[in-house]
Amino acid sequence: MLILLMTLEELELDSLEGVGPARKQKLIDAGIHTIMDLAVRGPSEVADTVGLDLAAAIELCNKARTRLVEMGRLEKDFVSASEIYKRRQNIEKISTGTKNLDELLMGGIETQAVTEFYGEFGSGKTQLCHTLCIMVQLPKELGGLDGGAIYIDTENTFRPERIAGIAKARDLDPDPILERIIVAKAYNSPHQELIVRELGRVLDQNNIKLVIVDSAVAHYRAEFLGRGTLAERQQRLNRFMHLLLRYSETRNVAVVMTNQVQSVPDQFFGDPTKATGGHIVAHTSTYRIYLRRAGKNRIAKMVDSPYHMEREFPFILNEKGVDDPAEETTSRRGR
Ligand code: ATP
Ligand code: MG
Repeated sequence: MLILLMTLEELELDSLEGVGPARKQKLIDAGIHTIMDLAVRGPSEVADTVGLDLAAAIELCNKARTRLVEMGRLEKDFVSASEIYKRRQNIEKISTGTKNLDELLMGGIETQAVTEFYGEFGSGKTQLCHTLCIMVQLPKELGGLDGGAIYIDTENTFRPERIAGIAKARDLDPDPILERIIVAKAYNSPHQELIVRELGRVLDQNNIKLVIVDSAVAHYRAEFLGRGTLAERQQRLNRFMHLLLRYSETRNVAVVMTNQVQSVPDQFFGDPTKATGGHIVAHTSTYRIYLRRAGKNRIAKMVDSPYHMEREFPFILNEKGVDDPAEETTSRRGR
């Protein structure tokens, strides 16, 4: 406990040379509460949100980086492969609660990564997110990480009743489970960005192992309607995505985001088989899984992973949230 307090003090903004009370307040108003936040947000964003000139922001962020490297909280600029290997050994996995999806993901949803589920409406993205909020809380021997979840809800589809229902169907007490899910409703894209900027503090103060953004791009879709604004939309989405990726790496948490694919192609969002965030989302996500309906079942397919095979597996939606298809179906498929 003492060590933890000391560490938090060392992260205080005003322990950094050049941060007086006024600047500290400005940083806090922009959701930058610690030195870690400074390093994670980076100079261009610090300059924009705090109203600093870029050179001063670069200097400030560099100081923050140096301090964190000295503290062993951040990797140096040049690191040996063995150090990266060591960090990657801390990667943990959250079971999806289904054998098939776990097999597709080679064990489950990883920390230090952004996993994107994309698919048409009703393909099961939100149901999967609800299930994961429960699974992450289980002890490690049962496939969880004994941690809480943050659910950033942009479409107003988070349902505590559904969480309670899934928990009961999995023989779990819903009350403590609901306690450990922090919900943030994002009403528009700037609000969604604000929530993510504040996320660092919430992650530091709670034992969170999973951050969900359902859906990541819905607000951007709705708000950016003309081609003329495409560049701004992509730039903001890019920042948003990179921030999430950095959180996942620096805090060793898993980030899961959903992305709706349109069945009817429209000229702005292009190819319907590509998720609506376009290239930005695709390139920032570490893993991308395409979900689709197939009769009563759903099918999940791994797309573009650096080391997973491009395979697909069936799953179903039921009272347990996401689940494996009935035994006969699976074994028949296997023959
Ligand atoms: P969107 O893109 O519109 O957000 P989505 O991919 O998030 O869609 P979900 O909300 O996850 O879709 O899935 C909706 C489907 O989940 C419903 O069509 C229904 O078939 C199924 N579903 C919801 N609740 C239950 C339940 N209690 N039991 C079984 N199936 C359910
Ligand atoms: Mg949904």
